[in-house]
Amino acid sequence: MTFEKIPYKIYLTEDEMPMNWYNVRADMKTKPAPLLNPATGTPMGFDDLRPVFCDELIRQELDNDTREIPIPQEIRDFYKMYRPSPLVRAYCLEEKLQTPAKIYYKFEGNNTSGSHKLNSAIAQAYYAKNQGLKGVTTETGAGQWGTALSMACSYLGLDCQVYMVKVSYEQKPFRREVMRTYGAAVTPSPSDTTSVGRAILKEHPGTTGSLGCAISEAVEAAASQPGYRYVLGSVLNQVLLHQSIIGLEAKAALDKYNIVPDIIIGCAGGGSNLGGLISPFMGEKLRGERDYQFIAVEPASCPSFTRGKFAYDFCDTGKVCPLAKMYTLGSNFIPSANHAGGLRYHGMSPVLSELYHEGLMEARAVEQTKVFEAAEQFARVEGILPAPESSHAIRVAIDEAMKCKETGEEKTIVFGLTGTGYFDMVAYEKFHNGQMTDYIPTDAELEASFAQLPKVPGQD
Ligand SMILES: *Cc1c(COP(=O)(O)O)cnc(C)c1O
Repeated sequence: MTFEKIPYKIYLTEDEMPMNWYNVRADMKTKPAPLLNPATGTPMGFDDLRPVFCDELIRQELDNDTREIPIPQEIRDFYKMYRPSPLVRAYCLEEKLQTPAKIYYKFEGNNTSGSHKLNSAIAQAYYAKNQGLKGVTTETGAGQWGTALSMACSYLGLDCQVYMVKVSYEQKPFRREVMRTYGAAVTPSPSDTTSVGRAILKEHPGTTGSLGCAISEAVEAAASQPGYRYVLGSVLNQVLLHQSIIGLEAKAALDKYNIVPDIIIGCAGGGSNLGGLISPFMGEKLRGERDYQFIAVEPASCPSFTRGKFAYDFCDTGKVCPLAKMYTLGSNFIPSANHAGGLRYHGMSPVLSELYHEGLMEARAVEQTKVFEAAEQFARVEGILPAPESSHAIRVAIDEAMKCKETGEEKTIVFGLTGTGYFDMVAYEKFHNGQMTDYIPTDAELEASFAQLPKVPGQD
């Protein structure tokens, strides 16, 4: 027990930054299900994945056993530009809420891309460069991942080709231009530069695109150009591994002051920030050393965990990617417009899906107007203007703190503040003008989408 006053911000020194990523799969009794080849239904091995992914990243993807994976020095050097990131004690929010709860947040928005995605972008670009590749291709929705990847690629001198969902390309010029500032080539998707894009355009002329469609195009672009590979900013095991830096730093900062959280909360799109934040804590829970309550927060308009099915599904609309076993709304499910673009994905990380399936983690779905109320409340007292995605975690952190106010419990709550919302002011504007709506899909809509899940031999 220390009686030292806990500072508003706990900063680690550069020397205290973790030397290794932590692979939570090593401590899972039931491993996440393997990716399957959609044509044969058999697990994808190293050689099957090589045409699309970088070699070292495939090794990380398939490695369910190595607990600690060293972070190469070059990546650590890049991390030092914006890490270690602070763990903030939200004294001002606690005061405002008049709660006995102790609230902390790990702030990942302190870099130009404005989110945690840079943690994996630099790792993926580094392994591509190390393999002697010329460049990488990817998709981006609202642009956070494309921005992070373009920053990483320009640092390493790699070519970066981004397929950006057309509606965002047209309506969100700012992130598009940030990407171009860092030298990326940005193509609105669907486009006529790939055969899958041409097919989608033919079938749905005038479509404004989707993330699943942009993924299909980026995968094809990688496979059809020598010296290129495809990289993905979330969902995959390797991405959660890279994002474990968030949880490792958070844990090191908490340990410095002997703080033990009761509840750990994160927003969940594809699951990478949440997976990264909870990994070291989940490891303790899996090893029976300590117990924590973990809460994933998702939009009520795209409720993969709370209303999805745990089944093999395609990761993309064009069905060119391997099948992943995950909580999914179906690859044909098109979530309604929601201002948290980074959370509009039909599936969820297979690692988190398995943990949730085993009851080791909870999930909540929240409506976007409630999310923006929390965002505004937070901004007014803590100063940081949060990303709509991150504000999902803020919503539930506030809800839990208010429960403590009722019961008088002094719970310690940690949540992930994944990014800033400066490029999301149109969404804030809608909220302020009372024009924001909460669309929740009907059971019938979801059933129609589930009916189209792929049939996989041996799976129900
Ligand atoms: C992309 C994004 C998310 C969601 O992605 P995950 O892979 O689920 O972490 C959350 N917050 C911000 C700011 C993002 O850019």
